[in-house]
Amino acid sequence: MRSSYRHTKVIFTIGPATDDEETLEKLVRAGVDICRFNMAHATHDYVRDTVARLRKVCEKVERHVSVMVDIKGPEIRTGVVPYALDLEPGNKVDFYVNPDDAKDLEQDGAYAITVNYPGLAKDVVVGNTVLVDSGLIRMKILSKDEKRVRCEVLTPGPLGNRRHINLPGVKVNLPCLTEKDKNDIKLSIECNVEFFALSFAREADDLRVMRRFIAEHDSQAHIIAKIEDQSAVSNLDAIVDASDGLMVARGDLGIEIPYEDLPVVQRRAVQTCHRQGKPVIIATHMLESMISSPMPTRAEITDVANAVYEQADCVMLSGETTIGKYPVECVEVLNRIIRKTELGQGPLYNENVRLITPKAKMLRSAVVLASDMAGAPIVVFTRRGQMAQILSSLRPRNSPVYAFTSDNLVFKQMLPLWGIEPFLLEFDDDPEETVQKAFKALLKYSWVRRGDNMVVITNSKIRDRFVDTIQIRVVE
Ligand code: PEP
Repeated sequence: MRSSYRHTKVIFTIGPATDDEETLEKLVRAGVDICRFNMAHATHDYVRDTVARLRKVCEKVERHVSVMVDIKGPEIRTGVVPYALDLEPGNKVDFYVNPDDAKDLEQDGAYAITVNYPGLAKDVVVGNTVLVDSGLIRMKILSKDEKRVRCEVLTPGPLGNRRHINLPGVKVNLPCLTEKDKNDIKLSIECNVEFFALSFAREADDLRVMRRFIAEHDSQAHIIAKIEDQSAVSNLDAIVDASDGLMVARGDLGIEIPYEDLPVVQRRAVQTCHRQGKPVIIATHMLESMISSPMPTRAEITDVANAVYEQADCVMLSGETTIGKYPVECVEVLNRIIRKTELGQGPLYNENVRLITPKAKMLRSAVVLASDMAGAPIVVFTRRGQMAQILSSLRPRNSPVYAFTSDNLVFKQMLPLWGIEPFLLEFDDDPEETVQKAFKALLKYSWVRRGDNMVVITNSKIRDRFVDTIQIRVVE
């Protein structure tokens, strides 16, 4: 199925609002590119069944979507409480690292709450801020000893079971992968997923640990680093270098850093990825109001357009498609904003990308040539996806890039790349045969018309050797 072309890709997070066959079909037809599973909520049976359902729908629609499993990573949570506590300013809360010390809900003039992190008292400093439940409840640390951390409530709110705790600016000494994460990764590998997202990636080593683990389990899935705290912001360049892409996870990031820093960090993250030639995803609250409303707010429209102007590879939906009332409408809204914004002015291509090899520099020449030919499409043949990734990072504004590969995993891993329309094709020993087969496929699905000019990057056989060439071809 041909869906009309856009450079910026769409990720949706799957959940109860979207996991039935009918809604999945509508989403795939509407043009989603990647389906994200959030392992903070999904069970193993859910992932197994839903991945199979999604793939069945994709076969039916003849449009493919890759799967990204979002691994929870290190996370501090409160324990279970008998009922939701209505915390008021001035209330005292003691966080206990050992449940045996928190026998009564109220003791020593404070609420006694357990946490799942034994190192809490060691890591924090008196006077630090503690944020509970996505920043809803703000507390200040009054005192600490080896058993507990005493806090005073500053901003009121209800405290339920297992709420997420953020400690802005504190380097938490938790391993980057928990036992649960490792089991989630093994299950995902069983389901042949194409991408992992690692939550709370704090330094480049976290990515190396994860890559080693998935390689030990025979997976070549790509790893997207989610930047969500101050350590990640400090180590941004090294994290991008060690990962296959970045997600600006604005939900937690907006709690862990001052909110006025968020747009600055987003822009820096996008530019770092552009320079290093890695894909970048802008996530969270893109169309938050559409969880319950059929129309986006003006601010949301502008936020999505801003991500498109910044030339992020993907925009991502979370609550909008997990529990929202209007998941398909959200994708249609993104389509409209993206297509309109992409028509705007901008540089013809990205001059800031670091190109090292002669072949990478040749790709820049192909982009300049296609741009000079009134935005002629670029056709590329790629076995490992690298040429497509470089072409994408060059951001040819007016030329679509049709990337052909014979490898199913590479095909799916090209889906999030800005401006890349991937195709699966068996390569022939004779490069010209492969070019002809590619043209046939493009004609069949109406991506091109007879008489169109194309810039083709392929091998040519000269005497007994293959050489890299850029060719100007007319579709016949
Ligand atoms: C975020 O914090 O913005 C994010 C995408 O992560 P999660 O949905 O796992 O909270």
